Amino acid sequence: MAITFLFCTFLARFGYIQLFWHKELVTRAVDQWTRELPVIAERGLITDRNGELLAGNKTAYSVYARANAVKDPAASAKVLAALLNVSETEAYEKLTDRSRSEITLLKRADKSLVEKIEGTNLSGVYYSRDNVRVYPYGALASQTIGFPSADGAGVTGVELYYNDYLAGTNGEVLYDTDLVGAEVGGVSYRAATGGLNIMLTLDVRIQMLAEEVMARAMEEHGAKAARCVVLDPNDFSVLAMVNLPSYDLNAVPRDDIEQLNALSRNALVSDVYEPGSTFKVVTAAANIEEHLRGNPAAFSENYVFSSSRTRTVEGSTVRCWSDHKQGKHANQTLAMALNNSCNPCFVDIALSLGKETFYDYLQAFGFGRATGIDFSGESVGMLLPESTVRAGDLARIGFGQTIAVTPLQLACATAAAVNGGYYFTPYLVKEIASSDGRVEYRADKRFSCRTVSEEASRMLSSMLEGVVREGSGKHAFIEGYRVAGKTGTAQKYENGQIAAGKYVSSFVGYFPANQPRYLALVIVDEPQGSYYGSTVAAPLAKDIFQGIIDVMHIERFE
Ligand SMILES: [Zn+2]
Repeated sequence: MAITFLFCTFLARFGYIQLFWHKELVTRAVDQWTRELPVIAERGLITDRNGELLAGNKTAYSVYARANAVKDPAASAKVLAALLNVSETEAYEKLTDRSRSEITLLKRADKSLVEKIEGTNLSGVYYSRDNVRVYPYGALASQTIGFPSADGAGVTGVELYYNDYLAGTNGEVLYDTDLVGAEVGGVSYRAATGGLNIMLTLDVRIQMLAEEVMARAMEEHGAKAARCVVLDPNDFSVLAMVNLPSYDLNAVPRDDIEQLNALSRNALVSDVYEPGSTFKVVTAAANIEEHLRGNPAAFSENYVFSSSRTRTVEGSTVRCWSDHKQGKHANQTLAMALNNSCNPCFVDIALSLGKETFYDYLQAFGFGRATGIDFSGESVGMLLPESTVRAGDLARIGFGQTIAVTPLQLACATAAAVNGGYYFTPYLVKEIASSDGRVEYRADKRFSCRTVSEEASRMLSSMLEGVVREGSGKHAFIEGYRVAGKTGTAQKYENGQIAAGKYVSSFVGYFPANQPRYLALVIVDEPQGSYYGSTVAAPLAKDIFQGIIDVMHIERFE
């Protein structure tokens, strides 16, 4: 009776051809033929939005031994030791190790070495063909791209989220044989189907220049981490995601799980921080829209806020970062309050709009929920439930405290405030196609909700342009390019207490102000020395925008 052995399950699990050799019964020819078959599906490629290769494959070989089939271990050890560059003792131990049915002698061997081994005709030594993932850019965008496990399944990043598309289907080698393997009949083979290719929305050129700027910042400021996300405010496609420190995808530190977890996290999506003053963009947007709608609780653009440095809410006092002496922060309008990043004015707005109205905007701007980006492990941030939020909390949320957000949430909220008031679902994959070019999926912008009206958006953007032209964001100014944005400086908390001397400096900005095309959120975590968003983060955004202008050959807007 003939039965068929299906090897596919082994192949999927171990990632190489594990053959039950009935060596003396199977002809050498069949042996050679099956070993060279591409049974493991080739993983789909990952490219940037312009087709630049970010993750590809190369063929390599695994060499292994089956002690039961090794005839002269001592002699074989001598030959192998020379070829594999190991000691004879080590080779001998492996060749005689009967604790497992087979033992790997070498992984990722190249073809010439395998041919040499093949030429020695050693008994009990085999090789198989593998696919090895290669990342031409090494550490670039490593937390976004991610990597597969040794047996080829995505572990993190896009490699994980899109694994089903990238993986393909392994082939099979089928042997017709009788139950005891006494006689070998035909051998048949079904080819592997390669995975689909994935084109990301990332632009390698922008990713590279943003990584350079942030790496320099890390060093200059002795920071613990530096992060940046760049997106297109017109569709929320992600152009760059920088998380430093980073690691080389071709040398994943798999043996140190703790280090690997820390380095491979895409903190822009999965970690939260207190946004501080960058959040005033949202508070200002809510106020402007409510004013345009005729809500008397909202302040007009000509309203002059109280010049006092403090506001006391429910017995707790909020202070401005400035001492308000010698006329500083006096007689401010909303535009001036944004320029000066004056906390008390935003307390007034949040309290005047009230919990219900303000929370409607927090919801529309995506806080307290996932953005829905095509990436695993997204955090929803921390927003106090509307039912429990007190006036003192509301006052602080107005200037970006008592709320925690992911960097991606803040970038998207800002984009939705200044792009005419449209919140889209951010995305990382632009297109999925087969290797012969058949497009299986093409991303389009996905509208989520309205935040504010076009008019409110325009007014806000004009104020944020002022922040960069003459306010706290002036270090991001680029002549002729209408950069707009907002700085943020937040104290860090550890175990519910303010951590002395630990700050997060940030800047969210975009250009041009009248029709935003590029938006960047820059975050420097625990800079040493200077720690204000205006002096630490704003200049970095400027460098990134200048880099984009150069790379994209963008003409001046005025
Ligand atoms: Zn002030």
